[in-house]
Amino acid sequence: MNKLLFTDKLKELDTSNKTTIQLYNEISALALKCGLAGSKAVAGKSAYYLSMEFLIGRGFYNNLMELGVIEETRKILALKGIDINVFEEIEDAALGNGGLGRLAACFLDSAAGLGIPLHGYGIRYKYGLFKQAIENGFQVELPDDWQRFGDPWSIRKESEKRVIKFADMSVTAVPYDMPVFGKRVNVLRLWQAEGSEEAQKISEYLYPADDTEEGKLLRLRQEYFFSAAAIGELVERHAKKFGKRFDNFAEYNAVQLNDTHPVLAIAEFVRLLTADYKVGFADALKFAGQTFSYTNHTVMPEALEFWGSAFVRKILPDIYAVLMRIFLTQKEEFNKLNCTFEETAAMSLYYSDGFSMANLAVFVCHTVNGVAKLHTDILKQNLFKTAYKFYPDKFQNKTNGITQRRWLMLCNSELSELIDNTVGSGWRGDISGLSKLNGQIDEIAKAFKCVKSEKKKQLFEYISRQEGIVIPHNFIVYSQVKRLHEYKRQLMTAFAILEIYNGLKDGSIKNFRPSVFVFGAKSAPSYKRAKAIIKFINEIAKSINSDEQTNGLLKVVFVRNYNVSYAEKIVAGTDVSLQVSTAGLEASGTGNMKFMMNGAVTCGTMDGANIEIAELAGRENNYIFGAEVDEIERLKADGYDPQEYIKMHRNAVESLINGTFSDGGTGCFKDLYDSLAVGASWHKPDNYFVLYDLSSYKEALLKINSDYGDEKAFAVKQLKNVANSAYFSSDRTINEYAADIWKII
Ligand SMILES: *Cc1c(COP(=O)(O)O)cnc(C)c1O
Repeated sequence: MNKLLFTDKLKELDTSNKTTIQLYNEISALALKCGLAGSKAVAGKSAYYLSMEFLIGRGFYNNLMELGVIEETRKILALKGIDINVFEEIEDAALGNGGLGRLAACFLDSAAGLGIPLHGYGIRYKYGLFKQAIENGFQVELPDDWQRFGDPWSIRKESEKRVIKFADMSVTAVPYDMPVFGKRVNVLRLWQAEGSEEAQKISEYLYPADDTEEGKLLRLRQEYFFSAAAIGELVERHAKKFGKRFDNFAEYNAVQLNDTHPVLAIAEFVRLLTADYKVGFADALKFAGQTFSYTNHTVMPEALEFWGSAFVRKILPDIYAVLMRIFLTQKEEFNKLNCTFEETAAMSLYYSDGFSMANLAVFVCHTVNGVAKLHTDILKQNLFKTAYKFYPDKFQNKTNGITQRRWLMLCNSELSELIDNTVGSGWRGDISGLSKLNGQIDEIAKAFKCVKSEKKKQLFEYISRQEGIVIPHNFIVYSQVKRLHEYKRQLMTAFAILEIYNGLKDGSIKNFRPSVFVFGAKSAPSYKRAKAIIKFINEIAKSINSDEQTNGLLKVVFVRNYNVSYAEKIVAGTDVSLQVSTAGLEASGTGNMKFMMNGAVTCGTMDGANIEIAELAGRENNYIFGAEVDEIERLKADGYDPQEYIKMHRNAVESLINGTFSDGGTGCFKDLYDSLAVGASWHKPDNYFVLYDLSSYKEALLKINSDYGDEKAFAVKQLKNVANSAYFSSDRTINEYAADIWKII
């Protein structure tokens, strides 16, 4: 980066009579140009991250920070009478849903920051994840036309476009490169589908509704489209250098498959090598095994891609043939290993006349990883138990992480400065330096309190502008922000709030310190129950916020359109991070790490990375409650009946059906109630043990409220979390991938 050139040009920039969007585009273009000056390709091995999602959020501030010019830009713009915050009008690029997509973005940031050559491959969706409006308490989905602001951080590479062939159509894949700045400049290459109207549909929407055959086919096309574009490019590049020699492909390329969505890349690699480069099938499969590795993100079977063979045969006949041939290879190998019938069935990539992308990945890849210690253990003991028995060396843990550049330095410059002033700025280059704070916690508790108050004030101002809800400065902030899903148990928080509210009204809860519960969550458009929970929370919020008897003590806010930019404000301004999934179901969580790094205590279950958070920051500095995995397993085995818990929590639970709250005549609250009390053919009553854990949850929330009274002691707990959060930097995670899986450092 030529900083001087950038600042000189910025000073010269004529800003008069320009709209925010024009300025955004011009300043970004300038920074992009200066940022790219001097970047160079690597001669040795590079790693590639294939992901259906990259939830990159707003690029403007982060890029200027990475380029080291954000402060100068702020000053130069101020001299011109422009507040740098005006660019918050530019909405996020939400090319992802939640944790999985945000992880991909954090990984790219960390790799660039560390100087590791890691490039991303994905899809340039025309519309990202929908924009969420709330009407009458219900979620309404609006299209996210993110490109209407322009896309100054991408460069269209017309000359590197490729043709992707389906049986019934050809599609042009045109790459758009987004540079990722850091110690080196890496690239996020997103493919846009061009050609016929049908062809363009492939990159139109992130996860089109797939409840119809047409929708399923479209999703299959999307997955193949970007996987094939990426693999085609890598193979062609290699062939240009080495001719038809591929035994050394893995010496130059490591390909990480982010979940099962890009797993068809394996079949495409084998197809390409055998068809176009005359490599033998066995060799092609071997080279694939040396190249690919797979990250599992979920143990929920419905989230593991499974493609009916008729679909695959219809639009990808050659891939169908490759998959069948890999299946034959599997059978031979399992025979040699003396697998039983059940063992073979458990590991087969083909069953029930379809293809399991997870089993394909586990069979071929050299490494399979889970994303937190507990999750990896569950993979070994449950989901991939059989494969673990026969291929134990394939399995590794790589606990997720988050980039401290966006999630601390950018979103909390005040805390960052306090850290600088306490232990020096070395942690900015090497995050492990954060742990030095451990020696100074008592000394800075007061200063930390001030920082937290300031960040709360900023959050409250923002919430007041966005949501029209005013929160007094002394309120404790409890936040639960994440995708809406039954297993994440936002409903349990809603019930706990109702019980606290009832306790305040009837006087059974005394000495309660003023608290606000902040929710932020999008529900999948077709996920009825999740949408009912959003409506329920909004009804509760409306009722509690307007109760003058209690609203000096308790408020509830459901923020609209939760996204990366909102998250940046919420994680910095929160005291208590709510991470309350049913034990065994949240693979890792990364929201929990963002909160920890910003000094929120975790109120959570022993699930995902919460376990490691509690271990590293000290269990006494967090609030762990609820059933652990063994207990949940035992309850399932013994047959859990929630009836007695429904009685115990009658007031809260029955508010769903006794007319306390209105679901607008939709019947969706009754449906929620039934999910707890009755169940359905596809799930047991209270499948997620919401009522089972509710009492201990409420106790934990009240204990926090009471502990908060000792301000110093509470600030110390919060600081212990900051001081021990370095482990959850994605710099640590990426270093582990680079060393243990990709072998590039
Ligand atoms: C970090 C993040 C997530 C993931 O949150 P979890 O609590 O780990 O599910 C989801 N959405 C956004 C916008 C995020 O920034």
